[in-house]
Amino acid sequence: MMDFLTHCRSVVGDAFVLDTPADMAPFLTDWRGRFTGKALAVLRPASVAQVAALVRACAQWRVALVPQGGNTGLVLGSVPDASGSAVVLSLARLNTIRQVDPVNRTMTVDAGCILQQVQEAAAAAGCLFPLSLAAEGSCTIGGNLSTNAGGTAVLRYGNTRELCLGLEVVTPQGEIWSGLRGLRKDNTGYDLRDLFIGAEGTLGVITGAVVKLYPQPKASITALAALPSPAHALQLLNLMQDHCGSSLTGFELMSRYCLELVAQQFPPLPKPFAAPHPQYVLLELSSSESEQHAVGLLEQAIGAALERDVISDAVVATSVAQSAGLWQLREHIPLAQAKAGKNIKHDISLPVSSIADFIAATGPLLEAAFPGCQLVCFGHLGDGNLHYNVAPPDGIANEDFLANQDKVNRVVHDSVVGFGGSISAEHGIGALKKDELAHYKSAVELNMMRAIKAALDPLGIMNPGKIL
Ligand code: FAD
Repeated sequence: MMDFLTHCRSVVGDAFVLDTPADMAPFLTDWRGRFTGKALAVLRPASVAQVAALVRACAQWRVALVPQGGNTGLVLGSVPDASGSAVVLSLARLNTIRQVDPVNRTMTVDAGCILQQVQEAAAAAGCLFPLSLAAEGSCTIGGNLSTNAGGTAVLRYGNTRELCLGLEVVTPQGEIWSGLRGLRKDNTGYDLRDLFIGAEGTLGVITGAVVKLYPQPKASITALAALPSPAHALQLLNLMQDHCGSSLTGFELMSRYCLELVAQQFPPLPKPFAAPHPQYVLLELSSSESEQHAVGLLEQAIGAALERDVISDAVVATSVAQSAGLWQLREHIPLAQAKAGKNIKHDISLPVSSIADFIAATGPLLEAAFPGCQLVCFGHLGDGNLHYNVAPPDGIANEDFLANQDKVNRVVHDSVVGFGGSISAEHGIGALKKDELAHYKSAVELNMMRAIKAALDPLGIMNPGKIL
């Protein structure tokens, strides 16, 4: 392996092949601190040609590689296993905005660009890149594409897949495929781009992408509504969609327990209501016309919701700062959970119409199996996506409760599948959920996935042990 590392050093320079435990440490532990893997080295290329040369070396020496962007993934996809035989290939130094094309409304970016950097480059050109999630200050666009990330604006703009028009990929053989065409229509055979999106680094290394830009909304307005139950939240979603159409850009459900957790862990954040309510919905409306238009739409819709007893109360942000404060409540839920201790997480999707029934049915099943357990239930309700996390009952240590993970997963995921849902809405499969995937996917589907993997990566060097 010395020959291999010597070769890698000749490609990227000594300083960018990290092989001491201290240098490698930040790349080996996942964001939640659940797992620390081992690696032969961390490779930090600065160009597409260097990525290709390193992948060719991996193929030649049969060394597995784990592509890594911001390492904010939540399913143990971006860290190596415990064998110490793989390298981590960090894309962080490929961080140039290559081109902004306001007429085509596209931007071509390196895969290692931080999402916030992409958003800011779009804004500087008077456009919007709508992908937005709480990790946007550290996750990369390559990671977003590789996990087909969702976030808070899917309701209006779709997942990352819908925001991508072209990709540049280094194949497992170390060839460069340039699919950076940026066309809105291109029906020339199999859609290779869509194969790499959501592949979690198991089929190739994404090095660049053409993403879609949108007109900046003229105004956005945020409100927090308080409601008696998830069923009321679904009624509110329908009402808002009827009143506001595509102006509704965010619709996030949060249970009372979620906001209590945020208040405990982050006391300075706003507390919009004097008394607690069972459920809350954070709403965002964007208008391509004017602030008055957005305010008018929101006031009308909230008025109708109050009149029909769909909501119990509402707070409307009257400034950008207040709006940011309301969003902070939502964005601090994952951070508050991390501070409070580990819990058993599920990122599930359901037909929107089944969400209230799922919540009503699954809570009692968990309570029967694990009396006193706490549900941290929040998510992108407008997309049918819930983060349905299970925390220990009072008096049981978080670490001890994790021993129940398989049993808890079975209760939750059986219920999800029973309601016609999916066990991973937006975080992917990684190493964390691959047994669950094998449990729930049909043999036909798994065999097609294995055939694609074997055809593109016959040596099995691309992020082994993830997804399949
Ligand atoms: P990494 O974590 O580095 O990698 C993720 C996967 O992609 C790994 O399998 C890795 O091997 C692969 N990969 C990374 N870069 C490449 C590349 N260039 N080529 C090939 N494969 C690659 N996700 C959501 O969908 N919606 C949310 O709302 C959301 N909120 C989050 C909030 C917080 C606080 C945190 C910590 C995470 C959240 N996530 C969310 C999960 C995470 O941010 C996303 O999965 C993100 O897209 C990962 O980007 P990354 O650059 O950190 O990728």
